[in-house]
Amino acid sequence: SAKESGRSAFAFFARQMNEKVQSVVRLSNDLRYAIDRDELQVYYQPIVDADTLETVAAEALVRWQHPRLGLVSPADFIPIAEDTGFIGPLTEWVVQRACRDAGQWRQKNDRELRVSVNLSNRHRHLENCVSLAAASLQQAGLPREALTFEITESFAMEDVERLQAIRAGGIGLAIDDFGTGYSSLSYLRRLPADVLKIDRSFVSELGTDADATMLVGSIIAIAHGLRMRVVAEGVETREQLAYLQAAGCDLLQGYFFSKPLPNAAFNDFLDRHSVSSEIDGGTVRGYA
Ligand code: C2E
Ligand code: MG
Ligand code: MG
Ligand code: MG
Repeated sequence: SAKESGRSAFAFFARQMNEKVQSVVRLSNDLRYAIDRDELQVYYQPIVDADTLETVAAEALVRWQHPRLGLVSPADFIPIAEDTGFIGPLTEWVVQRACRDAGQWRQKNDRELRVSVNLSNRHRHLENCVSLAAASLQQAGLPREALTFEITESFAMEDVERLQAIRAGGIGLAIDDFGTGYSSLSYLRRLPADVLKIDRSFVSELGTDADATMLVGSIIAIAHGLRMRVVAEGVETREQLAYLQAAGCDLLQGYFFSKPLPNAAFNDFLDRHSVSSEIDGGTVRGYA
């Protein structure tokens, strides 16, 4: 009967919920030991200059190699870290690692490479982050401007005011995933950010969707008007690259150049792309 099948559907749903809750509990428990057990890794994705295609920076993206589950996506464990308070220690660990690695890139390459680290909008360790960043930078022999924090539009304005301290200290601040939140232009104006990252969802529709194409051009113009540099996220094709260059985008990031790489592979990438790439008869030398 309908009633019976309704009941069994509910039982199925309840069982699924229960499994989900249990797996979250298990994951959050495992996550607490992930640093000590050396299961976390930082990958780096190159950020290139839009004109020269030279790598000028990298975004640090955390990875968790779980002993039984394999690679767990940050999209799955960052929310758990936020709920359990582990986001504080995790962020500190990523900042330390990113500064240490960036210090080595600079020594090896004699170039002013920068590194950016994502900040969760939920953790309450902002002050901690700034003082920790200062210590990590000093330890790595890096100037403040070598580090950029990435935040999203969902960052509360109260916290944004505290972000002034970050900028005042000389550390960079980027607005991540721009265009996906509900921020107003006045919010944008009050943010002390020096970089704006256009979300991948707009970039992926460049050239195919007229509205997305128009919006990318407008976002770049607004950001430049507010004295921010613009990064396009998720650049995957040569056509998107050409659009972004024509639109005056400053910096580019995406699979077209490279996926996020473990530090050793990122160092190899830097070696292979030490000279600026040229766009040459439709192909981009050094890429694809
Ligand atoms: P995000 O900060 O916007 O990072 C960019 C994401 O887009 C990364 O996913 C990257 O691998 C992916 N991506 C880059 N280029 C392309 C492309 O061309 N095509 C496609 N399809 N994807 C591309 P990832 O590494 O899985 O990270 C997902 C999110 O997890 C990040 O989004 C960030 O919000 C969060 N996250 C990662 N690491 C950390 C961290 O250390 N701390 C915090 N709080 N969040 C982090
Ligand atoms: Mg980011
Ligand atoms: Mg992003
Ligand atoms: Mg994103």
